[in-house]
Amino acid sequence: MKSRILDIEAKHEHDFRRTILVVDDEPVNLRIMGKILDGEYDIIYSESGEEALEEIKNHGEFLSLILLDLYMKGIHGYEVLEHLQKDEKMKNVPVIVLTSDKAAEVESLERGAVDFLSKPFDRPQVIKARIKRAIELSIDRHIIKNTGVDSLTGLLTKQFLFQYAGEYDRFHPNQGVDAIVVNFTKFHLINELYGRNYGDKILCAMADGLRKAARDCGGVASRVDADMFYLYIEHQEEYDDLVKDIKAPVEMIMKPSDVRIRIGIYQDIYRTATLYQRFDRAVVACNSQSKFVPVAPYTMYDNTMHEQELYEARLLENIDAAFKEYQFRLVFQPKYDITEDKPRLCSAEVLVRWQHPKFGNVRPDFFIPLFEENGLIKELDRYVWTEAARQIRRWKDMYNITIPVSVNVSRVDIFDPDLIDFLQGIVDANDLEPQDIHLEITETAYTDSSSQILNVARMLQEKGFKLEMDDFGKGYSSLNMLTSLPIDALKLDMAFINDIAEGNREMKMVEFIISIGKFLGVPVVAEGVENEEQYRLLKKAGCDIIQGYYFSKPVLASDFGLIIEKENL
Ligand code: C2E
Ligand code: MG
Ligand code: MG
Repeated sequence: MKSRILDIEAKHEHDFRRTILVVDDEPVNLRIMGKILDGEYDIIYSESGEEALEEIKNHGEFLSLILLDLYMKGIHGYEVLEHLQKDEKMKNVPVIVLTSDKAAEVESLERGAVDFLSKPFDRPQVIKARIKRAIELSIDRHIIKNTGVDSLTGLLTKQFLFQYAGEYDRFHPNQGVDAIVVNFTKFHLINELYGRNYGDKILCAMADGLRKAARDCGGVASRVDADMFYLYIEHQEEYDDLVKDIKAPVEMIMKPSDVRIRIGIYQDIYRTATLYQRFDRAVVACNSQSKFVPVAPYTMYDNTMHEQELYEARLLENIDAAFKEYQFRLVFQPKYDITEDKPRLCSAEVLVRWQHPKFGNVRPDFFIPLFEENGLIKELDRYVWTEAARQIRRWKDMYNITIPVSVNVSRVDIFDPDLIDFLQGIVDANDLEPQDIHLEITETAYTDSSSQILNVARMLQEKGFKLEMDDFGKGYSSLNMLTSLPIDALKLDMAFINDIAEGNREMKMVEFIISIGKFLGVPVVAEGVENEEQYRLLKKAGCDIIQGYYFSKPVLASDFGLIIEKENL
């Protein structure tokens, strides 16, 4: 494991000044040792065993090594050793015994010392080399014991990165630092398309790039999760070379156009944030990149992102009140069957609206992803589904017709083990049929977690619920996958509809998707249809169902009642 050793060495040479406790009751010995080690280590001096124990009690966790005299006034060095051995936190800190008594050497080793230095002291280089080696060995041991190294790439694990970085911070309180987060977009696709071995090769290449960057910039690199890497380095003035270094090994294997590497940077020049905040912010910067195509070489965490985070936090501050005070309201948008001459109201999609007391109308495409991140989505969706089911019942009672309602099912809901029981519960409570509720699941949920979703989707379909694949065309479903998926309708991503015109590329795409729908034997729904021309083109192309402002915006249930009445005139 060459790489592991490289990392550790880079760390020792460059970035961390370690702390050594020297214990000796002869001030002259302390001075000599101080002279030898000065400049390379931070040194704490103790003139007795008692003082040493006090230091260990107060600063034990900062110590990388203890140099311990045996024969001292007051307590004996052995007693200090014994104390250290009993202390869970301290027993891994290496101790080198200082003695002129040959006989004591062996006994010291037996009592837990890792090495000894004979008095009078040897040449400084020898002493320094033995001290360095003792520290390295102890770190290596510690790392191996705690599996602090990622077995695939040889980089540190996340836990170790944080431990090292924390230590670094303590000893370099004035050094500006940069937290950098690097990951791939859609790494699972690399695995799927080229196989896992190839995926592993790419990850190792990424690790090589990061290792070089860490060495050059005085820092450490870590693989924290599948394709997510952290780099913690001294603050840099510019990042172009660093970014090139990071990407170079991967780009040697893959065409730069085939990989998308995202890099987010948080600079903390004045050391105002905690270690965790630094990386959280670098993650925010990194994630913000997916929205921009082509991807910038890197993104810096900036004030706008900070403001955005604060806004998000304030938005979610009183979330309990939001439910209690009915700040969430449902709107319904009609869907029309256009397969016959006259469009016919056939169903509706329910969409949620948030009227926030401080921030006004908050857009769902803003808060839904937030809710998905922090788990609130489950509660919100259950609320929306429950209300939607009640509404279907009310319309049945009022107009004696069934308007099936599509609800949006977040990808997070799919992992909820009670999902099916819950849905069945609201169906039963309102005396409905499962097919009255359609479940819209976004295409990317299928492609991101296909096996889980496949099972859940099958069970839902067996129960009689109708499944619509939302935002179709945005993800990367293969035809092969589509034929094995339980779906009852394809819902075209709105982006296609926006720009359709007779014979253009978007129109051809739409026609192609409609033919996929025909092949699978399921209707194709087009949403976001805003005008007569789009309606005409879609009808001509054989699209089955249409939803959009052309017919109606999403409206409150009461207004939807008017639409039903008009339909039945
Ligand atoms: P979606 O499920 O694809 O919903 C369609 C979106 O298109 C809705 O936006 C709708 O208002 C909008 N829309 C409909 N017709 C037109 C049109 O002709 N032109 C234009 N420009 N837009 C049109 P909305 O309500 O803002 O919802 C955005 C997304 O938020 C939804 O996309 C859905 O993914 C999510 N969402 C909304 N409500 C819920 C919910 O209750 N639960 C979950 N999990 N997600 C929801
Ligand atoms: Mg939808
Ligand atoms: Mg949609």
